Amino acid sequence: MVVEVCSFFGVYLLYCTNPRYHGRVYVGFTVNPERRIIQHNAGKRRGGAWKTSGRGPWDMVLVIHGFPSDVAALRFEWAWQHPHSSRRLTHVARRTSRERSFDFHLRVLAHMLRVAPWCRLPLTIRWLKQEYCQDFPPGLEPPLHMPVAYGPVRAVKAKAKPTPSQELMATPTCCSVCLKNFQDGDDDLPLRCFHPNCTMAAHIICLSRVFLEKEPHHFLPVEGQCPGCKNLVLWGDLIRHHKGCYGDLEPDLSPSQVNIPHLFLKLLIQFIIMC
Ligand SMILES: [Zn+2]
Ligand SMILES: [Zn+2]
Repeated sequence: MVVEVCSFFGVYLLYCTNPRYHGRVYVGFTVNPERRIIQHNAGKRRGGAWKTSGRGPWDMVLVIHGFPSDVAALRFEWAWQHPHSSRRLTHVARRTSRERSFDFHLRVLAHMLRVAPWCRLPLTIRWLKQEYCQDFPPGLEPPLHMPVAYGPVRAVKAKAKPTPSQELMATPTCCSVCLKNFQDGDDDLPLRCFHPNCTMAAHIICLSRVFLEKEPHHFLPVEGQCPGCKNLVLWGDLIRHHKGCYGDLEPDLSPSQVNIPHLFLKLLIQFIIMC
């Protein structure tokens, strides 16, 4: 089964299966993994990278997705390609002569997922090819909020048409945190809980403050307790739901609300400045 993901920004690892170049790997960024692997294997005249052109076939082995923007994913890509130039990865030992390039790249990735700013992002680690799957090195497992998934993924556009049952759902009129009414034309469109029967809705900035109460030095929440249903929810899931793409749930937003709201962008910008 192919999992469909919208707002897809991913960084992938390719593995060369050509016996002449066996064992080579390549790290790249994509918004469309299915198209990208075809381009790599078709060569540079058809959009592949010059480093991979003529050396295929390549397998797309692993993709890390869930980045909030192309910029965030491109920074991740750069650091994975150049770990010894990244000031966040000075603790990562160089590749030894015995270590396979593939294993080295997995070791670098394991370190990257555990350091700021990446350790706070709502990332998914996805093995696209079962035969390459490996456990992360002991002591270098990814943070608990990052799921390890298996199987193919497809980038899709956000569906924006609400279902009739969702249209009938009562829209909360005030923020569950500050209790102020939502205003027409608010930049800060409310975040809503995706748990069934939970009517919690809150300003993004209000909910992020609640989630960050125990972590006042951070700007981007990872998880927190819904003020309505008290379930533990991941910030990344709330944002995905907000943008109209949370798992199998149909979106309950109108097309104009699918854009990332202004205040969330502000939070992200603060977060990127901190990096
Ligand atoms: Zn509020
Ligand atoms: Zn809730």
